[in-house]
Amino acid sequence: MNFDLTDEQRMWQKAVHNFVAAEVQSRAREVDETSTFNWQAVHKMGPLGLLGLSIPEEYEGAGMDALSAAIAIEELGWGCGSTALALAAHNGLGTAPLAAFGSEALKQRWLPLVASGRGKLGALALTEPGAGSDLQGGVRTKAEIDGDEWVINGSKMWCTNASIAEYIITLARTEPTSGSHSLSMILVPTDTPGLTIHPAEKKMGLKGSPTHAVTYENVRVPLENLIGKQGRGLQQTLSTLDGGRISIGALSVGLAQAAYEAAIDYAKQRQTFGKPIAEHQAIQFMLADAATEIDSARLMVYRAAWLKQEGRPYTREAAMAKLFATETGERVARNAIQIHGGMGYSSQYPVERIYRDARLMTIGEGTSEINRMVIARQILGGR
Ligand SMILES: Cc1cc2nc3c(=O)[nH]c(=O)nc-3n(C[C@H](O)[C@H](O)[C@H](O)COP(=O)(O)OP(=O)(O)OC[C@H]3O[C@@H](n4cnc5c(N)ncnc54)[C@H](O)[C@@H]3O)c2cc1C
Repeated sequence: MNFDLTDEQRMWQKAVHNFVAAEVQSRAREVDETSTFNWQAVHKMGPLGLLGLSIPEEYEGAGMDALSAAIAIEELGWGCGSTALALAAHNGLGTAPLAAFGSEALKQRWLPLVASGRGKLGALALTEPGAGSDLQGGVRTKAEIDGDEWVINGSKMWCTNASIAEYIITLARTEPTSGSHSLSMILVPTDTPGLTIHPAEKKMGLKGSPTHAVTYENVRVPLENLIGKQGRGLQQTLSTLDGGRISIGALSVGLAQAAYEAAIDYAKQRQTFGKPIAEHQAIQFMLADAATEIDSARLMVYRAAWLKQEGRPYTREAAMAKLFATETGERVARNAIQIHGGMGYSSQYPVERIYRDARLMTIGEGTSEINRMVIARQILGGR
């Protein structure tokens, strides 16, 4: 067994780290305080490959292995939760199902545009007011065939990137039943008449990552905008989420790493009772736990990514990595605030922002509870 990254992966990690330090981390506080998306940095990401991590090179993507893609999202998470979430959603949700299941014509039409940075980003709308964890039973948005078009009606919630996307891949009911073959994925360009992207949600954190409710009123798109097979939307979604979970796990490792580094810096310079707080055992134990958990989370994320790139089953490992890494992110950020004392509660230091950003990760792309269910099913068998 070899735990070393390849030379290529190490160089990639360093290049992304340097880019993120200069263009992303440097603006993380401003992005949070002003609730603005960091287009300035994102416009520079196309040539680097960050906008098409796993998209094949023939569609102007970077065609990277899953581990290199996870490393990139981890580095982005280290720099800025908001920017990292937008990029994780773009790569993992907004483009991955199109690359995996889309027709050749759809891929050629859209992937080069969003992977190169010439266009905006991609988005995926699964969640609805009445459907989050339970998509199969809950999705009400419906798509019906009328001539050579789909006509879509319904509403979605919590769609990351909707206002900064070229298109929204929409999970819609194409059969009147609630069976496992009743949903389909359809690509809806964001300038389609009848599509309304509502103002950005006001959130606890991730304020520089726009999230929107979206409504569809007689939205018409060509039948060819179906992604994959009609009725296979649920299966395509679950497969997409397996990959997305590696991404959110990697993002959480990055957030945890940033909080941990900030806590170490602070613990070395803050003095109480005549010595740096880093010399108090209670502080050392929090740092030791953080180091151990970050290491474990990173190894789990990398293993899931490696299984994915080897073409082996990875549903269980991705769910485990997502569960552990996201809960680690929250715990490490929480303790980093504790180590900062009162200053940890101030926006002058990054740890309160990281804590707010980390909080979402145990909810999006499968809550911790849903991931425990996925793991339990894999262990015990059954549906
Ligand atoms: C910032 C942000 C960005 C997001 N981005 C996107 C996006 O880009 N696209 C998209 O489609 N969605 C997105 N989401 C939605 C997100 O994926 C859902 O919020 C998430 O899947 C949970 O669904 P829900 O909110 O409906 O919670 P519910 O499904 O209502 O769950 C509520 C609670 O019940 C628990 N629960 C549910 N079912 C069970 C069960 N069977 N057993 C035990 N516990 C259970 C859950 O774990 C949770 O604790 C985003 C959400 C946020 C907040």
